[in-house]
Amino acid sequence: MSQLQQLPLQRLQVRERSDNRLAEHFQRDEALLLSEIFRRNGREDLVQTATPPGYSYVREDARPSVPVDASGPVMQIAAHPGDGPDFFYATYLKMAARTKYRSDYHEVLLTDGEGGVAGWSPERTRQIRVEEARAGAELVGNTLHFLGYPDGSLSSLAASARTRLITTLAAMIGDIQPCLLVVHPPKNDHPDHAYSFLLTLAALELNAQAGRRVPTLLIHDVEFGLQQKSLWTSPALDPLTERYPLHSPDSLVDISSTHQTAQRALHEHKTQMYDPALGQPKLYADLIDTLARVRGLQFLAEGAPETTRGQGFSHIVIPGVTSEQNVLPLRLPAGSFYERVHNDRQEGIFYDRENVFPALWDSL
Ligand SMILES: [Zn+2]
Repeated sequence: MSQLQQLPLQRLQVRERSDNRLAEHFQRDEALLLSEIFRRNGREDLVQTATPPGYSYVREDARPSVPVDASGPVMQIAAHPGDGPDFFYATYLKMAARTKYRSDYHEVLLTDGEGGVAGWSPERTRQIRVEEARAGAELVGNTLHFLGYPDGSLSSLAASARTRLITTLAAMIGDIQPCLLVVHPPKNDHPDHAYSFLLTLAALELNAQAGRRVPTLLIHDVEFGLQQKSLWTSPALDPLTERYPLHSPDSLVDISSTHQTAQRALHEHKTQMYDPALGQPKLYADLIDTLARVRGLQFLAEGAPETTRGQGFSHIVIPGVTSEQNVLPLRLPAGSFYERVHNDRQEGIFYDRENVFPALWDSL
């Protein structure tokens, strides 16, 4: 082999060595952040990496071959004040930076969160939390809709109240006609969250029966990323639910440029960040930021700044009821959407994605 031919190989080896050092560095950071998350429930040594073995997140820039209408409002159905900034504001702000599509955002709050401060009366808590939510929304520019159902009781509403809520949600979906609807995942970390998902599905069913536009349905990340027992998806469909203690979203959004604004909106929810009785930050106040760092490391490319932050989502396809087309990547600036893929496609079966995105799987 001539000297000339050896040169690229030598360069490659040097690059590999520095990539390995970088990878070790990121792995250390990731393990530290994860132990921070798991320390709260005494499992800090359990998980060293957030991406399950055999999987990775790859940047998805593909555009659909057929035209897709990705225009229209964005809607979120949230159980409590604070859930918007926790799980979606940063991604919305990233979408709003794009001007091709309308970006109006309606955040529907099923409860006023009146049970959220120990030692305060529901009336006082309600008033303060509604004010906090408005202050946070002002930073983001979204429209809040308070439905005033009882905090902590969404899973045990009387049949008449449940029917009324589902009908109201279906009417709102019909009025707003969102192209994208974001809701809590069907996990049992908080019963209000899990039932928000089920109530939303029922409303979407009514919406579909009325022949209206069916939106793309996304579930956001689970609370603090911790895997919980699934209420809705069977382990056979999503084996990671049972096998891996950290939730693994279908996709991650690069929110590096908007995370700080979303954090400011979150910190407007002072009663949830600080314990008014003890005058100290709450145990989990920093975990949304910690999770954003973990999600950022999961798709971090070599040489990218360590200020990268991420937010996770999964696409729920119910034929005839929700859209099979995930419009999220179309609404985001190019290069900010990452998909989870299995490194060996033989084993990768999640939901009905192989049917929904055959072209994607075939290309792996
Ligand atoms: Zn909540």
